[in-house]
Amino acid sequence: KRRIGVMTSGGDAPGMNGAVRAVVRMSIAQNCEAYVILEGYEGLVQGGDMIKEMGWEDVRGFLSEGGTLIGTARCKSFMERPGRLAAAKNMVLKGIDALIICGGDGSLTGADKFRGEWPGLVAELVEKGELTAEQVEPFKHLNIVGLVGSIDNDLSMTDATIGCYSSLGRICESVDYIDATAFSHQRAFVIEVMGRHCGWLALMAGVSTGADFVFIPENPPSDDWEKEMCHIIKQHRDMGKRKTIVIVAEGAIDRNLNKITPSMVKDLLTNQLGLDTRITTLGHVQRGGTACAYDRMLSTLQGAEAVKAVLEATPETPSPVICMIENKIVRRPLLEAVKQTHEVAEAIGAKDFDRAMSLRDAE
Ligand code: ATP
Repeated sequence: KRRIGVMTSGGDAPGMNGAVRAVVRMSIAQNCEAYVILEGYEGLVQGGDMIKEMGWEDVRGFLSEGGTLIGTARCKSFMERPGRLAAAKNMVLKGIDALIICGGDGSLTGADKFRGEWPGLVAELVEKGELTAEQVEPFKHLNIVGLVGSIDNDLSMTDATIGCYSSLGRICESVDYIDATAFSHQRAFVIEVMGRHCGWLALMAGVSTGADFVFIPENPPSDDWEKEMCHIIKQHRDMGKRKTIVIVAEGAIDRNLNKITPSMVKDLLTNQLGLDTRITTLGHVQRGGTACAYDRMLSTLQGAEAVKAVLEATPETPSPVICMIENKIVRRPLLEAVKQTHEVAEAIGAKDFDRAMSLRDAE
């Protein structure tokens, strides 16, 4: 029987458990054996009990649990070849030659690199006498399939990453709470939301809550943004609005790549407009909690598709990442999706904001 491993890696996101559940059950349904790797790549490097076979019942209840029940980690040793060598040995010892990874672009890049190195790694293990030629014989190739788990919705080539709609829902709910108190005291609130290179959460939260102003990294405001923002907010106040909400993405910058911080915005609203202004950093509440219905559906359908992709893979097929494009679950070459994702960050770094926005639109 074929053995398929699944792991979660990088930052946790609601819906990751749904993906693990789907992979485990689809693998079993397809007459394969399912394994989970605990604590991301750390489990692969350590091996032993960190790689566990899972039965159908072992993932019962996973759909409605937040975070990732099999753990996630940032693993330094997997970044180095000796760590990946240990990981390859552990996989051969467990008889696993297919890995489904639910994580961000870093985790998926690492996985594809591992696949590329695989033949060299197993050859080295035989050379060093750590494994025999017979042991490695059935494991000539490694199959890698990516699932994108991230609250930021920061991977190109997919309309939604697993977790982003849960997080957006949590942000909207939080802004609604803040709205009530802001309205009561006629206050202004500057709300910082997650998103280092990607303003999707901030932008969509702004649209969904009717915020007065939004700062995102891909489309920085004009050089005169202080004046522009104050003008718009004053207009809103003059129209009778009792509250002001400004949403700032973690990675917000101006057109010269200087950071725009919530405290800069607060000072402007206080000093220029005389508004009683508070800052709220939503922080990790954006990541926690149960997955919304959309993320449960997305993780389940994508997890099942990932197993199909493993079973249909050939040594020539580039590693796929499972995407959602115009409401359809599709496969795309993993490295191309990562490359396009990095192009957005590069365009921002080169102050080519039109390109950054058009790359986002192209998604
Ligand atoms: P997030 O979007 O939440 O940051 P991510 O998957 O991009 O998620 P990273 O911290 O970049 O998070 O990567 C997670 C882990 O994946 C790393 O700690 C490391 O073990 C592995 N990894 C990342 N990049 C590479 C790489 N180039 N080569 C080998 N392993 C890597």
